[in-house]
Amino acid sequence: MHKLLTDEPGKKMLLLGNEAIARGAVEAGVAIAAAYPGTPSSEISLNFFQMSQESELYFEYSVNEKVSLEVAAAAANTGVRAMCIMKHVGMNVAADALMTLAYVGVRGGLVILVADDPSMFSSQNEQDSRYYAKLSGLAMLEPSTIEEAKDITIRAFELSEELEEPVLLRTTTRINHSTAVVTCGDISPPKTKGDFTRNPMRYVTVPAVSRKLHVRLLDNLARAEETANQSSLNFTEGKGNWGIICNGVSYTYVSDAVQELGIEEKATILRLGFSHPLPREKVNSFLAGCDRVLIVEEGEPVLEEAVKALAQEKGKLLPIGGKSTALFSRLGEFNPALVREKISAWFEVQETLHDKQEPLIQAELAPRPPTLCAGCSHRATFHAVKKAAAGMDVIYPTDIGCYTLGMLPPLGMADFLICMGSSTGTAAGFSRTLDKKVVTFCGDSTFFHSAMAGLVNAVFNKHNFTLIILDNGTTAMTGHQPHPGVDMEKHGLSGFGKIDIEEVVKALGVGYLSVIHPFKLNKSIKVLQEAFAYKGVSVVIAREICTLYGKSLKMPKMKPFYVSDKCQNHKDCIDQLGCPAFFVKKGRVNIDPDRCTGCALCAQVCPENAIRPVKTNDK
Ligand code: SF4
Ligand code: SF4
Repeated sequence: MHKLLTDEPGKKMLLLGNEAIARGAVEAGVAIAAAYPGTPSSEISLNFFQMSQESELYFEYSVNEKVSLEVAAAAANTGVRAMCIMKHVGMNVAADALMTLAYVGVRGGLVILVADDPSMFSSQNEQDSRYYAKLSGLAMLEPSTIEEAKDITIRAFELSEELEEPVLLRTTTRINHSTAVVTCGDISPPKTKGDFTRNPMRYVTVPAVSRKLHVRLLDNLARAEETANQSSLNFTEGKGNWGIICNGVSYTYVSDAVQELGIEEKATILRLGFSHPLPREKVNSFLAGCDRVLIVEEGEPVLEEAVKALAQEKGKLLPIGGKSTALFSRLGEFNPALVREKISAWFEVQETLHDKQEPLIQAELAPRPPTLCAGCSHRATFHAVKKAAAGMDVIYPTDIGCYTLGMLPPLGMADFLICMGSSTGTAAGFSRTLDKKVVTFCGDSTFFHSAMAGLVNAVFNKHNFTLIILDNGTTAMTGHQPHPGVDMEKHGLSGFGKIDIEEVVKALGVGYLSVIHPFKLNKSIKVLQEAFAYKGVSVVIAREICTLYGKSLKMPKMKPFYVSDKCQNHKDCIDQLGCPAFFVKKGRVNIDPDRCTGCALCAQVCPENAIRPVKTNDK
C-alpha cells in the first residue's frame, strides 16, 4: 500500500513537504486531482498518480495547467473535493480559467496548490504568486513548516467550502523539498460522485451573469477577510514593541533568529498563514503595540506595501522596514543567517560570532553546472542539427525541458526562450523579421502542453521554420511523468488513451514531416538538411527514449565505449559533444564505463574511428 494511504491516526512519518501536502489532501477526502508536472511541486502529483492506482482517488496528468484547473473546477462544482497542482509559472497558464472561476466559485472544496521558486532553482523566473491572490480576489494560505503543510491543506479544503471559492495554497521550494516528521490524522473517505443542477444564469459567464458574479466575489472576499482576522493561522508570539511580520518559510527563520539573538522579550512576531486577504483588523491591532516594524517576506514586497498602506490609512507613524529600505532584496531565497543579520541590523542588536559561520560552509560546495546526461539523445540531435545547418545563418528559439541545456557549450543550441510552449510562436515571429533560417525545438510533453497551438498558428499563417520535436517518450525534466503521447499499456497501466504526435502533425497540415532516430547520425543529418530546405513549416520528430528513463524502465544496457590506442588526441569528441562520460587524464581522453550508456554517438564523431564498444578481450 502507498505509504500516504496508511490509515493509522497518530502515526508519525518522515515526509517531504510535497508528501505532507498530498497526505493532507488525502486526509481531507480529495476525490479528484489534476496537474501538469512542474518543479518544485512535482512530487505532489507523483504521489497522487501512485495513490490513484490503488484508491478511489482520480488523478490525471493534464496537458497543461489551464486544462488541469478546468477539470478540477468542474468536479468541484459537482460538490466533490478537488485539487489542482502547479508551479508558479504554471499559474500564468491557468490564469485565464482562474480569473473567471473566482466569479463562478465552487461547491466542493477546490485547493489550487502553487509552488513558487525563489532563487530559480529550476525555473525561468521567480514571480511571486501572491499577486494572483490579489488579482483573482481569492483567499491564500501559506504554510511555514512541513507539519503545517499537511494541516493547512486540510484547512484549505474547509475554507474553500465555507467561502464557496477556490483557495490558493502557496508554498516555496524550501517547504516543498524539505523533510520533517508529520503526525497522521484520520483519512476522510472521499465523496467521488457529485451532482449538478443546470442553472445557466449562475454558471455561464456571459456579461449579464458575470456582472452579478463579480458582486458575489467581492462579498466573498469581505467574508474571507473576516475569517482571516479570526484565523488561528494568523497568530502573534513573543512580547515587546519591536514588531516582525512574516509569512511562509520566513517565519521559521524569524522564530529562530529571535531566540538566537535573545530578543524574545523585545520582539513580537505576527505570522500570517492566511495571508490574503490581509487580516487588516489583526494587523492594525498589532501595529498599535509596535514602535518599529520589520517585514520579512521572500519575493516581492507584497505584505510590506499592504502594511504600509494600512498604517498610513490609520495615521500611524512608525518605521516599517523591509525591501524598500534596502534591507532585504527582491532577489532569491532567504536563509536563517541572512534573516538573523537583517533583524539585528534593523533593531540594532549585536550578532554573535557563531551566527556568521554559516555562509562559509556554503562557500565550500563545489559548483555543479547542469548538463545533459551521458547518452542523452538530445546531444545527438543537436549535433546532427549543427552539421545539417553548417554554412547556414540560423537562429534557434527553444522551449522548456532538459533540452534547454542545449544552450551550453559545446552545443550552443538555444537562442531565445520565454515560456513553456513558446518555441513555435517565437519561431514564427523570428521567421517574419529575420533573413535567417529558423530552427526551433520542443519536447514531446511540451508539444502537447502548448507548443501545438503555435504550430496550428504557423500552418494557418504560412510561417517558415523547422520545428524539431524531441520525442523521448516522457516528461523528462520534472521526473518522467507521462503525457498523452506515452503508451501506458507498456507500463502495465490500463485505462489511458495514446495520441501519436506524427498523426497530429500530419492532421495539422504540416507540409514536411520526417522521423529520425538521432543516434543514427548520418541519416539524421540528411533528413534535417531536407527539412531545412523546405519552404514553409517543416517538422522533424527526433525519437529516442530518454536514457535516464530507459534505465528506470530497466531497458537492456548497451556496452560502454572506450578510447582505443588509435586515438590521435584531436579531442573532437569533447569539443563537439561534451558528453559527461568523457574525462581527460594525463592529457588524453578517456570514457568512464560506469557513466557511458553505449549510445555510440562519439564513435560516429571520432575522425580516427578510435572509439569502440568494449568487448571481451578488447582491453
Ligand atoms: S533526463 Fe533524459 S532527457 Fe533529460 S538530460 Fe537526462 S537523458 Fe536527456
Ligand atoms: S558512447 Fe560516447 S557519447 Fe555515448 S554515452 Fe558513451 S561516451 Fe557518451
